[in-house]
Amino acid sequence: MGRILAIANQKGGVGKTTTTVNLSACLAYIGKKVLLVDIDPQGNSTSGAGIDKSDVEQCIYDVLVDDVEASAVIKETKIENLDVIPASIQLAGAEIELVPTISREIRLKRALEEVAKQYDYILIDCPPSLSLLTLNALTAADAVLIPVQCEYYALEGLSQLLNTVRIVQKHLNQDLRIEGVLLTMFDARTNLGIQVIDEVKKYFQDKVYRTIIPRNVRLSEAPSHGEPIIIYDPKSKGAEVYLELAKEVVVNG
Ligand code: ADP
Ligand code: MG
Repeated sequence: MGRILAIANQKGGVGKTTTTVNLSACLAYIGKKVLLVDIDPQGNSTSGAGIDKSDVEQCIYDVLVDDVEASAVIKETKIENLDVIPASIQLAGAEIELVPTISREIRLKRALEEVAKQYDYILIDCPPSLSLLTLNALTAADAVLIPVQCEYYALEGLSQLLNTVRIVQKHLNQDLRIEGVLLTMFDARTNLGIQVIDEVKKYFQDKVYRTIIPRNVRLSEAPSHGEPIIIYDPKSKGAEVYLELAKEVVVNG
């Protein structure tokens, strides 16, 4: 059975999508069979993994709302070992449409059970909220990976996320673990970045990944080419660190 990781933080712009796309691609690169599941209506990880949104007829919306089988919406990417369940803007309506439905928090879990045995890893890119979509991800997941941007107020809002994790553990998924906290967009030229690292390590201790993702302009360029960094610029610092993270994730089990 594939390990299911939810990439979550209700703050926007902290590197969830960048991490989901590039960690998925790097895990695939080292030979793991990977499914990226996009549950953000923005669909940025769908396009970042190279799926042309105009090619998408059915997406995660149809799985969550209309009970379409996950296997029917999986798309192969041009990267060996990497498949995607795409999202489209239609998903923005799912939040409201799911409210009156039965077992609304466990729909993603049910859907992924059918395909999990075909993959080593399933990575879920969450939207920037603690909404029903994120609850579905946390309920389906074995563990949550929390990207934290190295900036002032980095820890702000994390208590809400941790509280949500505890609620999910209590009511929906008692096996949910915190896989790790990933420091992103680190800028070695500022003292602030170093202070934030210290602060986050004090709080999360051994849960913080050894790999720290620096600011790297190639990482921000890659999505507009529809390519993960390992394809767009395999020699870049961005490719190097996400490959290192992939190895760390594998070693952590
Ligand atoms: P989220 O999914 O949490 O909203 P994104 O992954 O979309 O965050 O990142 C927000 C923005 O920052 C994007 O424009 C992305 O390209 C850029 N970005 C993310 N990580 C890095 C990085 N390590 N270096 C430079 N730019 C980055
Ligand atoms: Mg995102």
